[in-house]
Amino acid sequence: MKQLRDLSKQKIGVVAAGHSSVIANMAGLKLPLESKPLQALVSEPVKPIIDTVVMSNAVHAYVSQSDKGELVIGAGTDDYVSYSQKGSHDIVEGTLNAILELYPIFSRMRMLRQWGGIVDICPDASPIISKTSIKGLYFNCGWGTGGFKATPGSGDLFAHTIANDEPHKLNAAFNINRFVSGDLVDEHGAAAVAH
Ligand SMILES: Cc1cc2nc3c(=O)[nH]c(=O)nc-3n(C[C@H](O)[C@H](O)[C@H](O)COP(=O)(O)OP(=O)(O)OC[C@H]3O[C@@H](n4cnc5c(N)ncnc54)[C@H](O)[C@@H]3O)c2cc1C
Repeated sequence: MKQLRDLSKQKIGVVAAGHSSVIANMAGLKLPLESKPLQALVSEPVKPIIDTVVMSNAVHAYVSQSDKGELVIGAGTDDYVSYSQKGSHDIVEGTLNAILELYPIFSRMRMLRQWGGIVDICPDASPIISKTSIKGLYFNCGWGTGGFKATPGSGDLFAHTIANDEPHKLNAAFNINRFVSGDLVDEHGAAAVAH
């Protein structure tokens, strides 16, 4: 922690997703994040059947097909805060019940595997790309369930923020101080599945 507190000559950018709060704690920082498991599951491979991602807010699930033919299926986060990276039966059951509302024929599919990762969620469901109260320490986090589609843009803006010690105009609103000033960027309705 002593090393992290003295960053006068160096800069550190932290991009640790679900474990951002763990690293922030090492520097004595408290981030406005909740870390929760997010699960997904994959079926046995089948011939091409879906050529897009199908998402439904009504039944609360999504499905797409990988190049190998597996159906990739998921829904919202687990209901509880945890760092446990594993799947659970209730999520499989709830997610597949939702998918079967859309595609009853998938009841004949066999699932191959499931997994869980930890996602970092801000109260306003928007990311943080920001410098912090510790000079030279920057965080890019809070992407929740939607971080990898944003990777090129968020990486570019994070690099700009670190290099200039100021945000680019595109990420100025995504600063950490918005949780003090109240200038929140409420994106809770932006995803087809819950954050
Ligand atoms: C099941 C599931 C499905 C998802 N589906 C989608 C989707 O469809 N679309 C989408 O856009 N996003 C999706 N996401 C979210 C997406 O995966 C994340 O938002 C994204 O990967 C975050 O990228 P990142 O580079 O910030 O962090 P990560 O890719 O998680 O990388 C963080 C890295 O930090 C490392 N790390 C952690 N702690 C430490 C430490 N103490 N010291 C050193 N290194 C550390 C980790 O090992 C890891 O390599 C999904 C996530 C999950 C779990």
